[in-house]
Amino acid sequence: MRTVYVNGEYVPEDQAKISVFDRGFLFADGVYEVTSVLDGKLIDFAGHVARLKRSLAELEMDAPCDEAELLAIHKRLVAENGIEEGLVYLQVTRGAADRDFAYPEAATPTLVLFTQSKPGLADAPAAKTGIKVISIPDRRWGRRDIKTVQLLYPSMGKMMAKAAGAADAWMVEDGAVTEGTSNNAYIVKGNTIITRHLGEEILHGITRAAVLRMASEAQMKVEERAFTIEEAQQADEAFVTSASTFVMPVVDIDGAQIGTGAPGPVAQRLREIYLDESRKKAV
Ligand code: PMP
Repeated sequence: MRTVYVNGEYVPEDQAKISVFDRGFLFADGVYEVTSVLDGKLIDFAGHVARLKRSLAELEMDAPCDEAELLAIHKRLVAENGIEEGLVYLQVTRGAADRDFAYPEAATPTLVLFTQSKPGLADAPAAKTGIKVISIPDRRWGRRDIKTVQLLYPSMGKMMAKAAGAADAWMVEDGAVTEGTSNNAYIVKGNTIITRHLGEEILHGITRAAVLRMASEAQMKVEERAFTIEEAQQADEAFVTSASTFVMPVVDIDGAQIGTGAPGPVAQRLREIYLDESRKKAV
């Protein structure tokens, strides 16, 4: 049984409870972060905390505690639950209040953290074969840059992918790819990595920021702009990034084989660099 953190307490998972009036439950009025764990250490913790602060600020939500305390909670859960490879999930909601659309004048934020053990995370078999994706319309709300817990459409997208025999879906809006259901999307043409520019249309991936920086340091060219599914199908390579899948090659989009149909050299190299560098800086 795991130890879970709920509002200041470390409790066995079957004793972790929050109010039925919690606004996270009633309105999806909450934000979250997922930080991966490798070698028992947190990957890019500073990046995740910075984005959490931004999400909270955009929603005028109070921070549940300071950064040092958040780090201490993460570390204690990783240690107590013996996580070598896996992740820490963190969620902050506006808290419990009588049901009303307007934000309550005073509510104490709810803070919940739990771990998931995922042995073999860094050595995922899918990274060796690459994954298939399908395209679907992007039907999410307009503030995707805020990492809210309203994940129903991404969930529907994963189910559509599953039904089509694919691992994930790339979402398309106004003719251009926004991102994957739970990751940022990239294509590679020659020595150039192309990924959608930042804005309210996509989540500002912590892995995206790290991978683009490492790509530039490795003398690869980076272009931040929108691209279409047709352009992606004709690219040399495609891949996605996220905190829990790192860099994952994409080898098929809507049934069209990408490049040779096997993970390409750029995606493979970026995965290696990302894992190496991140491990060195893990806390
Ligand atoms: N886009 C979406 C929609 C996501 O849900 C995620 C992962 N939470 C990402 C991108 C990747 O972000 P990160 O690299 O910070 O995990």
